[in-house]
Amino acid sequence: MDMGLLERSGNKCELCNGTKELTAHLVAPKTEETADHQAVVCVDCLQQITQTAPLEPNHWHCLNESIWSEVPAVKVLAYRVLGRLNAHPWATDLKDMMYLEEATQEWADHSADAALVHKDSNGNVLQAGDSVTLIQDLNVKGAGFTAKRGTAVRRIRLVHDNAEHIEGKVDGQQIVILTKYVKKT
Ligand SMILES: [Zn+2]
Repeated sequence: MDMGLLERSGNKCELCNGTKELTAHLVAPKTEETADHQAVVCVDCLQQITQTAPLEPNHWHCLNESIWSEVPAVKVLAYRVLGRLNAHPWATDLKDMMYLEEATQEWADHSADAALVHKDSNGNVLQAGDSVTLIQDLNVKGAGFTAKRGTAVRRIRLVHDNAEHIEGKVDGQQIVILTKYVKKT
């Protein structure tokens, strides 16, 4: 890893201060691997950011501190994670407290990949705020319930860096749903 990055981070995860398997994470949609575009993150944060592991809300109380980071790349990550935690009032409050320079705000709002398009099972383009219906029963991992076929999910959110994932509330719980199991209504 870049020495400047290691020095900046103090050899710790810039989001949670953890030290487990630190890596330099390039914060999309930036493509140039410079220290400015990267954040040092531990494996726990990385897996949740890249959605290879489910989001654990309790882990992210660490953002209480890291939202005040001077590093734009860190702020962008924090902002996006808080956005995904919008079912939790503490996260919404934290996000509201953040101050992002204009360029940083644009970076944070920018989808990970501009070409990323979310489509439902019929190939219709989905947008944030759309309503969808589940086309089959879904076993919701971790939440311990089954979302029934035909369930309406209102005001969906698009997952920034994964065109196959949307988020929405079912039975009062914010869950991630695969786009291939929904149809736009
Ligand atoms: Zn971490």
